[in-house]
Amino acid sequence: MRDDLPRSMSFGPRRRWRRALLWTALVMLMLVAQTLLVALTVSYESSRTQELAEETATLVAAEIRQRAQLVLQGLQALHRRHADRQAWQTEASALLQTHREIVRIERRDTGLRIDDAADSPYRDPLFSRWPRAEMDLETEVACASARRTMSPVFSRSQFVPQHNGLGLEVVDVCVPLQEAGQLVGFGVASIALTALLDELRPPEFARRHEISFVEADGTRLARSGAVRGAGVYVADRVVDLAGTSLQLRVDAVERRPSLIPNLATALVLGLSLGLFVVVLLLVRDARRRAAAEEALAEALAFRRAMEDSLITGLRARDRDGRIVYVNPAFCHMVGFSVDELKQATDPPYWPPEHVPLYRHRQAQRLAPDSIAEPAREGYETVFMRRNGERFPVMVYEAPLVDRSGQHTGWMSAVVDLSAQRKVEDLSRQQQERLQATARLASVGEMASLLSHELNQPLAAIASYATGSLNLLDDTPQTNQPSLPPLPPEELNGMLRQGLQRIAEQAERAGRVIKSVHDFVRRRHQAHEVIAADALIESVLPLVRLQARKSGARIEIDIPQPVPRLKIDRTMVEQVLLNLARNGMQAMESDATPLERRVLTLKVRVVQGRWAAFSVSDAGPGIAPEVGQKLFTPFFTTRNEGMGLGLSLCRTVIEQHGGAIDFESGSDGGTTFRFTLPLAQTRAEVPA
Ligand code: ADP
Repeated sequence: MRDDLPRSMSFGPRRRWRRALLWTALVMLMLVAQTLLVALTVSYESSRTQELAEETATLVAAEIRQRAQLVLQGLQALHRRHADRQAWQTEASALLQTHREIVRIERRDTGLRIDDAADSPYRDPLFSRWPRAEMDLETEVACASARRTMSPVFSRSQFVPQHNGLGLEVVDVCVPLQEAGQLVGFGVASIALTALLDELRPPEFARRHEISFVEADGTRLARSGAVRGAGVYVADRVVDLAGTSLQLRVDAVERRPSLIPNLATALVLGLSLGLFVVVLLLVRDARRRAAAEEALAEALAFRRAMEDSLITGLRARDRDGRIVYVNPAFCHMVGFSVDELKQATDPPYWPPEHVPLYRHRQAQRLAPDSIAEPAREGYETVFMRRNGERFPVMVYEAPLVDRSGQHTGWMSAVVDLSAQRKVEDLSRQQQERLQATARLASVGEMASLLSHELNQPLAAIASYATGSLNLLDDTPQTNQPSLPPLPPEELNGMLRQGLQRIAEQAERAGRVIKSVHDFVRRRHQAHEVIAADALIESVLPLVRLQARKSGARIEIDIPQPVPRLKIDRTMVEQVLLNLARNGMQAMESDATPLERRVLTLKVRVVQGRWAAFSVSDAGPGIAPEVGQKLFTPFFTTRNEGMGLGLSLCRTVIEQHGGAIDFESGSDGGTTFRFTLPLAQTRAEVPA
């Protein structure tokens, strides 16, 4: 981990550079894409408008040709059907009504003189202001050409002034009229170019385009409608008519597309901006997501490391009791792999002899009503390792609840108790050894006491035995004249009494030996319940031995009702014995006169839970420098002492949860006090 840190830090600036470069590239690309899009949109718009103009021009040119053809057909039909003037006039008027673009029809003879003429009813007669004769040149040229080719010929366009100060651009068409293959005259029609354009169908052309006829130099000859072209999208077509040609111009009203007012461009710009914002939001979202993922991965790694480093086994089960998760410590504890544990129906670490019991217990534990109160304090049970070894474990179980508050299973922490048990066993064994040693040490010290105590009965036995022997020797066989022989009844009586005394003294010696024997051999079960008086009673024989040697009296003060204790009896007896013996040893010197040598054993109940014992003597007291080291092992002031007594006392009392201390008055006398737990509940007190 530490190695990674500087490396990742050294990558920091380079990574920042890369990010800045990527951002610049993104912005540039967006700009280029946007510009391209705008340019393409504008170019598309332009070409669309131009295309439309071209298309319109083609259509209009075709239409004009078609109309010209219709005019020709109308003229030819008029000649063929009507030779007489009246009928010609009627038919000519009809033709003028159907073809608004025709403003005048003439019938001429072969010398081009006008026989008949009819003007359009929709306007003033064409030559009302300007005489026909002065405007006849172009017509005559066309008719001459028609005579030569014997087919209709159009004249060049000419401007015919009108009354209102304006004029009409007119094209004449000259149709040669034949009868039986002979030329009999000419039909001439004048077509107004403006009207021709106005008559065009469909009118949609006219709505978005200005349609006009122009000269080669661009001078406008005629145009239709009110629409005016912008001069940007222009399409020209040459309309070829027999004998002449007209230049048609279509001019779209649209100007060159400008950026902002153009809807499509605005749309593209708006979309691009929107896209940019979305990209920004996505980037921010991706960053947040990446940060969250990193945090999650770190948390997961931390959790994994924590679970892996635990020595407590972790096990998760679903609501059917199936194992869904175990940590390495658990696998290590039972010796089965994760897969083996997950796949088994009954956990493989259940000892086969307990399987029915464990199944029953699991069913109870997994019952829905047990969820409300999980057993927080845990329970002790036995698991089995892969090698068949059984071992004790402590299991703490808690319900697994998911985010929606659903109870999904159970999580257990499993602690292997086998090591703890071994330590406990070891400590118990050591304790026992310590007891035995302490006891033997006491016995060793008591050996002198014993010899002193046994001396008396043994001396008594010896003297009684000698007395009895002497009595036997005083019988008549001994020939001692000084003493008269005893009568046999009296001798028997005295011998009996002597032997009785011997038996009594032997019994007394036996009792002394038995009390020591009892003390050394007794091994009680740890922590039993015992009454305080019984406890003191059991050490009293040995205390008395010492008291007799020291010439001390013993006073005992126990309250009523007698407190009951829950203790390791043997060890506490040892404590009492040590303190009593120390007290009496302190009083053995001459500093304490015989009448003051009193050892007091007192018991009191404190705070309702403790029994306070005190052992007081009238010895010289304890000097402060001695008092500081009193409980230190091997500290002693006596030549024959070992210095283990008080240190052992403190160990024993503290193991019971109690405390020991002492008080020494300035004028002598010492009191040792210690506390022991009372038996609390009725169940602990034997009946
Ligand atoms: P030991 O009895 O083998 O010396 P202990 O641990 O029992 O070992 O006692 C340590 C020392 O404490 C004794 O040597 C003695 O000096 C002092 N001591 C203990 N009890 C008393 C007492 N009641 N009065 C005065 N001195 C005492």
